[in-house]
Amino acid sequence: MKLTNEYTTLENHWMPFSSNYAFKQSPRMVVKSEGMYYWKDSGEKVLDGASGLFCVALGHCRKEIADAVYNQMNTLDYSSPFQMGQPGPFALAERLSSILPGDIDHVFFGSSGSEAIDTAMKLAVNYHQANGQPQRTRFVSRERAYHGVNIGGTSLSGIMGNRKSFDGITLNTYHMRHTWTGEEKYKMGQPQKGAELADDLHRIATTIGGENIAACFVEPIAGSTGVLVPPVGYLERLREICDEHGILLVFDEVITGFGRTGKAFASDTYGVLPDIMTMAKALTNGSQPMGAVAVRKHIYDKLVNEPQGKGVEFLHGYTYSGHPAACAAALATLDIYEKENIFERVAELAPYFLEKIATLSDISAFTDIRGYGLLAGIDLKPQGAPGMAGLEGMAKLFEAGLHVKFTGDCALISPPLVCEKPHIDQIVDTFREVYG
Ligand code: PLP
Repeated sequence: MKLTNEYTTLENHWMPFSSNYAFKQSPRMVVKSEGMYYWKDSGEKVLDGASGLFCVALGHCRKEIADAVYNQMNTLDYSSPFQMGQPGPFALAERLSSILPGDIDHVFFGSSGSEAIDTAMKLAVNYHQANGQPQRTRFVSRERAYHGVNIGGTSLSGIMGNRKSFDGITLNTYHMRHTWTGEEKYKMGQPQKGAELADDLHRIATTIGGENIAACFVEPIAGSTGVLVPPVGYLERLREICDEHGILLVFDEVITGFGRTGKAFASDTYGVLPDIMTMAKALTNGSQPMGAVAVRKHIYDKLVNEPQGKGVEFLHGYTYSGHPAACAAALATLDIYEKENIFERVAELAPYFLEKIATLSDISAFTDIRGYGLLAGIDLKPQGAPGMAGLEGMAKLFEAGLHVKFTGDCALISPPLVCEKPHIDQIVDTFREVYG
């Protein structure tokens, strides 16, 4: 009998966000995972310093999650999420509302972070329409932002390469400057300077009319483009400017959600309440595809409770919104976060992690190191075309037994939140072995 995942050629699968040609010349394959590790097809172990892709917060192959999914698939595998219900998404939304900040208590599900972003954009526009402001159709985000790859997220993207390739099919968005000024290099935690960069939103609002802007999207810590930690006072200032102009503030917590910063959400860590929050990844520990958008009470009330039964309130949804398997995985994941006090654990472990990563500052191949919580970014000195140093670094670290994600020439370190100090030491030692 043929195993279901047996293959004879690499030719047919078109890999996402990958240099397919280069990969297929020199593949990096993993065939097994458990706890903090992957196993290569050669049998060698690779430490997962990236939580897969910021998802696997609780370590790999958690039995509790696998069992929950298995049981769910043997009880109710699928039902239409439109106009009929099943317990999963109701239970999960109720559970999430107990850990979401403030009155962010209503949750809409999809299957990815990208879907959550496009959903949030549509929700923002519908909210303003219901408020008698249908002209609010423009969006603001930031340079070096990553908000997924659907058309909405691509439009918000501040990674110019990702946008430029799709010019002509993206929406009209406006970009504030990013918050990395280069003035406080090799510093962990929040930069002291830079809160005034939030005034870019005010400048955009006065240029195009704040009354035309639906929402401002930011990652509290810009994750994928290099761990850009918000300067002290920056998010607070953004909140004030949004309020001044009636703009909805959206925190994209796809990376920062579920403990990465030492509290449930970065919104809690930095004490700033957005109107809308997007999440995905660690929501299911990466075990099932799931994304979610959570909104404050006034948004849900305006769109759902005020019209009172005048038909479908939000003309949007996915075949897999609130999929039973994903809900089962997410509920089991949230159980573990709570039982194992994971968010508190991160707050305790973060100083050790950040101090250890900072010991790499003497390496001449690096040009900056930043971090917050269990998230750190290391900028590599460019070698030739942008991204080449990163590609080479990723391959060498993998060869040396460490998986970290690179975006361009920046290494992003985000180990599972259950990591122990020796794992952190191993990450740092492997960087030194490869670069020192
Ligand atoms: N938003 C942020 C902040 C992300 O980091 C990502 C993915 O890395 C996304 C959105 C898109 O999520 P997905 O890849 O699940 O569509």
